[in-house]
Amino acid sequence: MTVRTRIAPSPTGDPHVGTSYIALFNLCFARQHGGKFILRIEDTDQVRSTAESEAAILESLRWLGLEWDEGPDVGGPHAPYRQSERGEIYREHADHLLEHGHAFRCFCTTERLDALRREQTAAQQQPGYDGHCLGLSQAAVAARLEAGEPYVVRMKVPREGVCQVQDMLRGQIDFEWTQVDMQVLLKADGMPTYHLANVVDDHLMGITHVLRGEEWINSAPKHLLLYEYFGWQAPVLCHLPLLRNPDKSKLSKRKNPTSILYYRRMGYLPEALLNYLGRMGWSMPDEREKFTLGEMLCHFDIMRVSLGGPVFDLDKLSWLNALWIREDFTLEQLADRMIAWAYNRENLLRVLPHLQPRMERLSDFAPAAAYLASGMLPLTEQSFAELKLEREALTQLLQFAQWRLEGIAPWEREAIFAAMKTLADQMGLKIRDFLAPLFIAIAGSAASISVIDSMHMLGSDLSRARIRHALEVLGGISKKRMKEVEKAFAALGAAAGG
Ligand code: GLU
Repeated sequence: MTVRTRIAPSPTGDPHVGTSYIALFNLCFARQHGGKFILRIEDTDQVRSTAESEAAILESLRWLGLEWDEGPDVGGPHAPYRQSERGEIYREHADHLLEHGHAFRCFCTTERLDALRREQTAAQQQPGYDGHCLGLSQAAVAARLEAGEPYVVRMKVPREGVCQVQDMLRGQIDFEWTQVDMQVLLKADGMPTYHLANVVDDHLMGITHVLRGEEWINSAPKHLLLYEYFGWQAPVLCHLPLLRNPDKSKLSKRKNPTSILYYRRMGYLPEALLNYLGRMGWSMPDEREKFTLGEMLCHFDIMRVSLGGPVFDLDKLSWLNALWIREDFTLEQLADRMIAWAYNRENLLRVLPHLQPRMERLSDFAPAAAYLASGMLPLTEQSFAELKLEREALTQLLQFAQWRLEGIAPWEREAIFAAMKTLADQMGLKIRDFLAPLFIAIAGSAASISVIDSMHMLGSDLSRARIRHALEVLGGISKKRMKEVEKAFAALGAAAGG
């Protein structure tokens, strides 16, 4: 048997470090067994998936040095590798399940399902489908189809007994079938859900081992049941521990930068970031901290993964990055890296349109653009003094801006401006006054070029990291005060009717 593993990212946002971490372990596992590593794009969520996100994911994984044997860009024997191009395959498979009595059409309206969920929640029951359409006669189904009623396809799930999931790292995990919902497989628009598409593709693409994040464990019973319904052998399952913030919560962009683009822009080396990801829950047999991808491939053993949630710690990453900078590059190589990273023509051409009108001498450029090629800025409380704003008003404004910025995707200039303008209006502030604290947080000075352009050029994660840093410098927001700030923020939206 040839080992085949895969990574199956959904292109719905910036490339996530978690994706590269899972990709790394899948690559190592496949290579160690002389197998193949596949990249599949799970873009069945047509509303949230974008071509830009897909391109950024592929580019970021390549930047890190991760290469796949089959994928949407390199092709392969199981093409297409993009789920949006495989619609017919999923519909055929859903039909197969319907014909064999493993799935049923459900005509329930959203109103009925919402009411059901409310009732179940009120009665402190686990929310889930109640089987309403399960008993519809063939004639009733035919009549409703004839009448053109919209429907979804749901899988049947046993109402008693236990599903035993075998996980490579965790051993056997038991799930009561009553805890498993009658999952929708095909949506009303004929698109598959993650569960159907994922199982069908893993089978058709010959995936032998599914190594994925632990957040998918609860899906395992549904997936195993689907394999059984189709009469297929299920792949071996392995759920890797999730990356965590230093406070042990799941790594999330609210607390920590999660985009690979951020780490690249901060000047982490791909070798160091990959090395650090390899240290997430795994270690070399001799416990050495610094190693190359090649060394990791040589020594990889999935059984050395420890399940305690690995903490993604920026200080530790910086320490490792410093070792790489000092020990692994000649001055010539480092100079080439610096040029590739930021000091190149392309970047100059992005910044110069903003600075040309302000320059008297070429030497004016570097100081004016320094914040665009920096990480965190050397801010102090004093940096904000000239604004003459109360600390509470200041932190509230920054926090409001932060929350609105979190919702912007894709990160485009117009969208950033519109979000900030709406917020300023809702707060009853002139845009100029509203933006003043953001100038300091983002550029370190009120005299910089447009802060909206600055945020656009810096990218979403770095902009938000700087605002987070400014909030910290200003002493943060206490738990008690945060409740008030959250309330005031919610009231803003309500006043604006949204
Ligand atoms: N599309 C899923 C994701 O975005 C894939 C999960 C899996 O590996 O099964 O992570």
